[in-house]
Amino acid sequence: MCDVCARKGPSRRTLMFAGAGMLAATQFGGAAQAQPARAASTPDEALKLLVAGNARYVANQPQQRDFSAGRASRALGQAPFAAILGCADSRIAPELAFDQGAGDLFVVRVAGNFVTPDGLGSLEYGAAVLGTKLIMVLGHHSCGAVNSTVAALQKGNTLPGHIADLVRAMKPGIEPTLMQPGSDLEQRAVVANVQYNVNRLKTATPILAAMVAKNEIGVVGGVYDIATGKVNLV
Ligand SMILES: [Zn+2]
Repeated sequence: MCDVCARKGPSRRTLMFAGAGMLAATQFGGAAQAQPARAASTPDEALKLLVAGNARYVANQPQQRDFSAGRASRALGQAPFAAILGCADSRIAPELAFDQGAGDLFVVRVAGNFVTPDGLGSLEYGAAVLGTKLIMVLGHHSCGAVNSTVAALQKGNTLPGHIADLVRAMKPGIEPTLMQPGSDLEQRAVVANVQYNVNRLKTATPILAAMVAKNEIGVVGGVYDIATGKVNLV
């Protein structure tokens, strides 16, 4: 069972104590010393690592990786430095786009990269228990979920099956862009969707809002350019 699945079992308080126990074990020695170390200790450091990793990816100069190295350590625990709320789109793989290895990123993906109750719970777990220092909401150009929502708002049509639920959930973040002037509606909708969900995470009580207020975690937005691989902060 993965760590996220575990939240359906013991309470968050229990998990937090478990996390504290692991930290104590690390401080006082023993086998836990072999657990992975977090690559960043502040939101700013975490963002710098993502930006630098994306630059390597854009330049097609990723770090050489030995995928077996560190497996024994990761079997003992995880210490991801950042979380990504990304789209399910097959063209945007966060670990590749930010040139990170196993254990570095805590990734939640859903078509349209918007906040759902389960996704929020996952990100809270990443922040409060695993210690992620940054959450990036990562949108992208040519997003089918965003375009479908724009079309549904313009035409008033209903999409089949549960796709309709997805579009309905995304409407509040995108609808204001239809009232604004400009021909680049698709791009504005992508950015608006990212910013709306950044704000949702920053104000999500009781966990994330309190951690943001204490600068224990940062929340930023990014838009991935499929043609270049570059992530621009928005
Ligand atoms: Zn998408």
